[in-house]
Amino acid sequence: MAAELNIPAAPPIEGTTHLHSGKVRDLYRIDSGQHEGRLLMVASDRISAYDFVLDTTIPDKGEILTRMSLWWFDQLAGLVGNHVVSTDVPASVAGRAVVCERLDMFPVECVARGYLTGSGLLDYQRSGEVCGIPLPAGLQDGSRLPEPIFTPATKAELGDHDENVDYEAVVEAVGDDAAAELRMLTMEVYGKAHLVARERGIILADTKLEFGRRPDGTTILADEVLTPDSSRFWPADEWQPGRAQASYDKQIVRDWLTGESGWDRTSGEAPPPLPEAVVDRTRARYVEAYELLTGETF
Ligand code: ATP
Ligand code: MG
Repeated sequence: MAAELNIPAAPPIEGTTHLHSGKVRDLYRIDSGQHEGRLLMVASDRISAYDFVLDTTIPDKGEILTRMSLWWFDQLAGLVGNHVVSTDVPASVAGRAVVCERLDMFPVECVARGYLTGSGLLDYQRSGEVCGIPLPAGLQDGSRLPEPIFTPATKAELGDHDENVDYEAVVEAVGDDAAAELRMLTMEVYGKAHLVARERGIILADTKLEFGRRPDGTTILADEVLTPDSSRFWPADEWQPGRAQASYDKQIVRDWLTGESGWDRTSGEAPPPLPEAVVDRTRARYVEAYELLTGETF
């Protein structure tokens, strides 16, 4: 069942038509001018946790994640193309939006995992496998896998969990050739990004990519890439399998929600607003991840 979502109406942007709002991003079609027909993808400061969009926003989150994504697209340019056309965007969304190619999206969340945690860990504990891939016995939360694996998921409706599926399900959804291409690109991107992050003291435990097809048939990266919303980044010097890892994302929010706040995750009720200190610490964590990875000051 879809959880209650709480997505505020996307503010109108002149010269565009609003198409879609997800938990974090708002998508518009550009109606005229040089970029007519392109998409404007706007990252808001919204934060989601446990499939709820929280009432509280994290200042600058949209800009931090947009800049991080752009930085990664550059790092990966030798491996795979991407949908970015321009960062020249309307003033109201400056810094947190990109003009991008409108693609025919593959209906697959392309996930690569080099370490075991989250839904992968749950599947492993139930079956010894993740997405049909058998794994050795004795792995723990945070264990490094013998080698990185492709663990696709199907995109859920808004408010539902994505569902892990096996490679055969991807073949059924997109055909043999596209499935093979998506798997290959996903693992190449993970391999490269893992190395880049590792040099900066960060473990890229897993990441979720979305690909789309251009009218000419080429497959390129879309959406956001290698942000704390789509990936798990762990400080390498604190990594210790057998427990939940410290991480550069909304862990602070999750910990507060399931701990101190007194909110009951199973109640079906919306989570309470975040205290200022939790907002500040979360923002600082996102900035820290951005600065560590890119070497730039936010
Ligand atoms: P959520 O992430 O909250 O589960 P969502 O994925 O629907 O929901 P967002 O991630 O906030 O929403 O919005 C981005 C949407 O835009 C996604 O549906 C994504 O597949 C789509 N998208 C991203 N890039 C492109 C593109 N170049 N062309 C077409 N659609 C795209
Ligand atoms: Mg999304």
